[in-house]
Amino acid sequence: MTETRVAIVTGAARGIGAATAVRLAREGFAVAVCDLDEASCGATVQAIEKNGGRALAVGVDVADAALVEAAVARVAAELGPPVVLVNNAGIIRDNLLFKMSDDDWDSVMSVHLRGAFLMSRAAQAHMTQQGWGRIVNLSSVSALGNRGQVNYSAAKAGLQGFTKTLAIELGRYGVTANAIAPGFIATEMTAATAARMGVDFEDFKAAAAKEIPVRRVGVPEDIAGTVAFLVSDDASFVTGQVIYVAGGPRA
Ligand code: NAP
Repeated sequence: MTETRVAIVTGAARGIGAATAVRLAREGFAVAVCDLDEASCGATVQAIEKNGGRALAVGVDVADAALVEAAVARVAAELGPPVVLVNNAGIIRDNLLFKMSDDDWDSVMSVHLRGAFLMSRAAQAHMTQQGWGRIVNLSSVSALGNRGQVNYSAAKAGLQGFTKTLAIELGRYGVTANAIAPGFIATEMTAATAARMGVDFEDFKAAAAKEIPVRRVGVPEDIAGTVAFLVSDDASFVTGQVIYVAGGPRA
C-alpha cells in the first residue's frame, strides 16, 4: 500500500487516545480523532496538524450504532478507508458490588464492549476490502480483578476474548487484532480515581510507583508506542495477543 493509511482512534480528545492519535500521525497515518464531543477533539487535531500531519475531528458516541455507522462512513469519505482502529474510549463507574447500580454496570458495558463491537463491525468492512487492517483494543490489568471494579474488570476481560475471536475471524483477510492491557497510566481517569478517594494525585502516583517494578507510573506515550508497533507491518504475525504494558509482569 503506498497511499496514506487511515486510522481511527476513539476517546482521542485526551489521555491515552490523544497520545495514540498524535503518535500514529507521526507514523504517517491520517487520523480520525473521535470522541463524544467533536469540539473536544480540537486540541488533538491541532497537535497533529502542527507537526504537518492530517487529522479529522469526529464526534461519536461509540455505544450508539447509528452514530458509529455514520462516523465510520464519514471517515471513509473524508480521509479514506480506515484500516486501523484503536478502541480506546472508556469510562469508569467504580463501586463495591453491593453498592453498584444497574446504570453503573450498563454504562461501562456499553462504552467498552458494545462500543468496541460496533466500531469494529463498521471498520472491518473497509479493512477486509483493502486486504490489510489492524484493530487494537484497550483492555486493562483490571481484567485480572480489581476491588471496586466488578463492571470494568468484566468489560476489560471481555475485550480480551473479543480480541482473540476477531483475530481468528479476520486473520485470513490480512487483519490482525490485539489488546493492550495498561497498568497505572497518569491521565484524567486515574486523577479522577485519586480525587474520589480523597488522595492528592501526586501522592497517589508516588504510592503506585513503589509497587511497580520499574518504579514509575506509566504515561500515555507508553501505550501509544505499543500501539504504533501493533499497527505496523512488522507486527503482521502478532495477532490475538494481550500485551500487558504495566512496568512489570502481569497475567
Ligand atoms: P480518559 O482520560 O478518561 O479518556 C477517555 C476518553 O474517552 C475521554 O475523552 C472520554 O470523553 C472518551 N469517551 C468516554 N465515553 C465515550 C463514548 N461513549 N464515545 C466516545 N468517547 C468516549 O481515559 P484514559 O486514561 O486515557 O483511558 C483510555 C483507555 O485506556 C480506556 O479504555 C481505559 O479504560 C483504558 N485504561 C486506562 C488506564 C489508566 O491507568 N489510565 C489503565 C488501563 C486501561 P469524555 O471526556 O467526553 O467523557
